[in-house]
Amino acid sequence: MTAYSLDDDGVVVIIGSGAGGGTLANELAQRGIDVVLLEAGKHLTAEDFVNDEWGGYEMLSWLDKRTSSGTWRVAKDHPLTPSWSCQVVGGTTTHWSACCYRFIADELRAKTVYGDIPGTTLIDWPLTLDELNPYYDLAEAKMGVTRTNGLPALPANNNFKVMHAGATALGLNVSTGRHAINTIPYDGRPATIQDGFTITGDKTGSRWSTLNVEIPRGLATGKLELRAQSRAVFIEHDAAGKASAVLYVDAQGVTHRQKARAVVLAGNCVESSRLLLHSKSARFPDGLANGYGHVGRHYLRHLIQTVWSTFDKPVHMHRGEIMGGMIDDFVRHDPSRGYAGGFYIEMNSMGLPTTAAFMEPGWWGRDFASVIEQYANMAGIFMSGEDMPQADNRVTLTDELDAYGVPVANIHYDDHPNDLKMRSHGYKVLTSIHKAAGAKRSVEAPAYPASHNLGSNRMAGRAEDGVLDGHCRAWEVPNLFIADGSNFATGGACNPTLTIVALAIRQADFMARQMAAGEL
Ligand SMILES: Cc1cc2nc3c(=O)[nH]c(=O)nc-3n(C[C@H](O)[C@H](O)[C@H](O)COP(=O)(O)OP(=O)(O)OC[C@H]3O[C@@H](n4cnc5c(N)ncnc54)[C@H](O)[C@@H]3O)c2cc1C
Repeated sequence: MTAYSLDDDGVVVIIGSGAGGGTLANELAQRGIDVVLLEAGKHLTAEDFVNDEWGGYEMLSWLDKRTSSGTWRVAKDHPLTPSWSCQVVGGTTTHWSACCYRFIADELRAKTVYGDIPGTTLIDWPLTLDELNPYYDLAEAKMGVTRTNGLPALPANNNFKVMHAGATALGLNVSTGRHAINTIPYDGRPATIQDGFTITGDKTGSRWSTLNVEIPRGLATGKLELRAQSRAVFIEHDAAGKASAVLYVDAQGVTHRQKARAVVLAGNCVESSRLLLHSKSARFPDGLANGYGHVGRHYLRHLIQTVWSTFDKPVHMHRGEIMGGMIDDFVRHDPSRGYAGGFYIEMNSMGLPTTAAFMEPGWWGRDFASVIEQYANMAGIFMSGEDMPQADNRVTLTDELDAYGVPVANIHYDDHPNDLKMRSHGYKVLTSIHKAAGAKRSVEAPAYPASHNLGSNRMAGRAEDGVLDGHCRAWEVPNLFIADGSNFATGGACNPTLTIVALAIRQADFMARQMAAGEL
């Protein structure tokens, strides 16, 4: 395997190997650029993964302590694990459900379209859908998204049949949606066997992840070096204010300094903001690239709310692909609904352990048992809705240090009135779909730990409004980039990964152009 010297200051150092970092590493390597990819987690393979929902969660997830505050229910239910991401080569693409939708044009112009909403820090994205669409095309092709590039849709499972029956009765537009899961062999990956376990690592490799697609391809170029179990703890800069090296701790606890031509953070939102805030210096006393105070702010997590319903016949919702269902009637901004923005409705199913844990944390006794005993007859449906950016919804550093000497992050999130109105409407719609399909009882479940972590190092048209420019490059540090979902200017409604991947491909183009021009 390619091995670069720690003193090689010609390499691009990427921190984090998930959706953004793993994709960018491959895309840069394909363009002939030398890359060192630092990943905190282990390099697991298909043989390591277990078809066990809870065991898989523990094997893959980022379980280091975080704290939480604010009015969001997550602060009460999951105070030490408020956000849900992974610590493993491939990042959270080893654990994701692979729903892939594009932003719509209005969502990239949220400030213009939604107007002034008190308490929000809405902005427009510094790029348009027309600029993004070619990269969406590339992302869908490389990820093998169903219903694109001639790839067949996922078949219906029982949970979808319930969703379909309810949605059709209400006149809604329902389909099995779009997923980066192979329905036929594609790009060297097999078709799904629909065993319901693509979410715990995916032993079969039918689902796209950076672990099974991007990183091996990057390594094959000879331009990429992957260093697993290598946790970045500090980013240094030189006298000119450019990022010059990354300090990281290896599996033996030894600290190294890797010099860099450019540094890209891709640690998944919370970790990237945390690292920037921690990387203080005389020049950047509030953290790297934080002169305007935006690092960590405007944190978004989507309104993800589930309704679980019981029916008089078995559903066995855990069988088949777990999120193979989608309704898009509520995505477009429609002021007549009484709130800004929109939401997708998607199918949701979980195994018994997670359903019991997330349905209503703290609920117990006869009533709870009477519902959970009906697990075999249960169907699930959820919404992914756009939440409003707010300056004080943010990642900050606490006084407590972790085992690597980096302060533990706190995530503060207060629900905005717009979020509460959308959530309330969403619950009504979800419940009505299940009722129309014959539900006996429906339970509105609160949000579980945030799986769509976005916005805390956002891009903006002006340095005064965000951390990054339209190419996800720090306004204040010209060779520092962000490739994870913290770069989103606003959240939109759709699941974020397709957009993270599209932005990473676009970023690789930009970086390669800059390098060719001698500007990076
Ligand atoms: C259960 C679940 C289901 C999901 N389903 C979907 C879905 O259907 N559709 C969708 O679009 N999205 C889905 N998501 C969200 C999706 O997985 C994430 O949005 C996406 O993976 C984020 O990409 P990222 O690059 O920001 O971070 P990640 O993919 O999380 O990668 C970050 C990587 O950085 C590493 N890292 C962090 N800090 C450091 C450090 N200091 N040093 C070295 N390495 C570090 C981490 O270990 C991790 O490997 C789901 C998430 C979860 C949890």
